[in-house]
Amino acid sequence: MITPSGVWLSANMIQHDILIIGAGLAGMRAAFEGITAGLDTAVVSKIHPLRSHSCAAQGGVNAAINPKDDWHDHAYDTVKGADYIGDQDSIDMMCSEAPQAVLDLDAMGCPFSREDNGTISQRAFGGQNFPRTAYAADRTGHAMLHTLWEQAIKLGTKVYDEYFLLKITTDNGRASGAIVMDIKTGQLHQIKAKAVCIATGGYGRLFASNTNAMTCTGDGVAHAMRAGAAAADLEFVQFHPTGLRNSGILISEGVRGEGAYLIGKDGERFMHKYAPNKLELASRDVVSRSMTTEILNGNGVNGGVFLDVRHLGRELILERLPQIRQLSIDFEGVDPIDQPIPVRPTCHYTMGGIRTNKFGHSEQLQGLFAAGEAACVSVHGANRLGANSLLETIVFGKITGKDMVDFVKNREGREWPSVDSADVQEVSGLIAKLKARPSAGGVKQATIRHELTNAMQEYCGVFRDPEGLNKAMAAVQNAKADMENVFVDDKSDAFNTDVITAIELSNLVLLAEATVMAAITRTESRGAHSRSDYPNRDDANWITHITSTVKDGQIVLGRDNVRTLDNPKYAPAERKY
Ligand SMILES: Cc1cc2nc3c(=O)[nH]c(=O)nc-3n(C[C@H](O)[C@H](O)[C@H](O)COP(=O)(O)OP(=O)(O)OC[C@H]3O[C@@H](n4cnc5c(N)ncnc54)[C@H](O)[C@@H]3O)c2cc1C
Repeated sequence: MITPSGVWLSANMIQHDILIIGAGLAGMRAAFEGITAGLDTAVVSKIHPLRSHSCAAQGGVNAAINPKDDWHDHAYDTVKGADYIGDQDSIDMMCSEAPQAVLDLDAMGCPFSREDNGTISQRAFGGQNFPRTAYAADRTGHAMLHTLWEQAIKLGTKVYDEYFLLKITTDNGRASGAIVMDIKTGQLHQIKAKAVCIATGGYGRLFASNTNAMTCTGDGVAHAMRAGAAAADLEFVQFHPTGLRNSGILISEGVRGEGAYLIGKDGERFMHKYAPNKLELASRDVVSRSMTTEILNGNGVNGGVFLDVRHLGRELILERLPQIRQLSIDFEGVDPIDQPIPVRPTCHYTMGGIRTNKFGHSEQLQGLFAAGEAACVSVHGANRLGANSLLETIVFGKITGKDMVDFVKNREGREWPSVDSADVQEVSGLIAKLKARPSAGGVKQATIRHELTNAMQEYCGVFRDPEGLNKAMAAVQNAKADMENVFVDDKSDAFNTDVITAIELSNLVLLAEATVMAAITRTESRGAHSRSDYPNRDDANWITHITSTVKDGQIVLGRDNVRTLDNPKYAPAERKY
């Protein structure tokens, strides 16, 4: 089936029924629904789809596909992992739909690792009571994204590849499309759409040490806030226990799932002190705090501890963990077959994102949808379980895609919104101003990024306290002021990455401010948000989401209810591993 590839309304204005920004797993899965429902669906991506960060996912995807497992147990593990602040309607939906979502991909040809009897292999992951993580060696995201990309090609999906989102446009409280830049020419286009989906991924680049691709700058979340949507849960940022010590590159939790353990400077394990039952496979927030405590207490070496896989043996390492072995050799100079790998907690995932209902639709901005890491449908609450994010992309990519189809075919989305060419003028004026700014008296974007991301790392990381958070806020205010004077060296139109990274930085600055404001406001410790001045969880006051919106250019915080279900098993309880 070949779908229509948009209708040109003028030289730089085009329309599609459904416009999806982001070609990672969430965007591609949503596009599949639009196209197979016969709607004119387009995907915009600032990089080639196969370069999306989804492709870097290593460890796997959770689903209760083993007959001995039960999706209710998966849901319980997720509610607990989220420290009781995930939305339980979304969590139930994700876990009950998970087996089918994984089998859909299997049927499309995704090369999952298999047992001798032909069933999909599953490994143990943190914070879960059953080995329910399906995987394709240690390259699961790669296998899944290539599978969806094959489908996109087969279906003739229209992809604007190397187009950069600059603004989400609105028409009377409804999303009406987007302004995008064709990166290879610098030309701006206005795309009008009946439904717009943001699937632009997370913003882990806000922290100096992180596992994320350069592209993970939260563009879609920042633009959605500016357009009138709310973001939520921004204070919850996940630090993965095992980033390589020097580069931050990820060493998957799947390695601990295979039996690797953490050791301090003298080769002794330490996790029994912090999580006597689950040890290295406690949830990520718990393991990251334990490692940071050991490092601060002098049990580390050069700011890290070690991940030991030697006892797993050469054969298993070569078969199931080939990529992490190569990464350790290339980036740390250590072959894990013979030596422990130096690791430290590293920013990995942003639980917060565009606030949506359980179908991925924003409640503030009609016609705006979000899926994947950019969304806060809130299945992860205060702490995401490993391998639940790939799952979120394929389950909510599918559900959100279906809801967009319904919105366009049967609901308010039947009518076309209006667009205004003044939006193009506004964006083009901002870019012209940036290019015109002289370097004399200006500030280099690298300086702003360096100072901001280091302050976020130091003062808004694994442990937070009021003094540090105030320092983080001061750094954010400096960055905001400096952005008024940021200049670019490259004044050309074609492939101007100088302009693009400056705009990405402005998105990070907005998200930094909202993150620090929310972290200051939440006076308790829950999941990944750990305040030394409020060390306990405070269920009486804080079973709520903090929302962030932009009003008159200022960030305004609010609250939104956690959606709970009448299930005694999901009632808040002390969280022990
Ligand atoms: C190293 C690593 C390993 C991981 N391993 C696992 C794992 O094993 N299991 C698991 O469950 N999760 C894992 N995760 C998390 C998971 O991979 C991600 O959360 C998930 O893949 C995000 O998918 P996405 O579709 O939401 O966004 P992404 O895959 O990040 O895609 C974002 C898309 O948006 C586009 N985009 C962004 N900004 C713009 C813009 N301004 N204009 C146009 N396009 C734009 C990009 O081009 C890209 O196509 C891992 C993450 C990392 C970083």
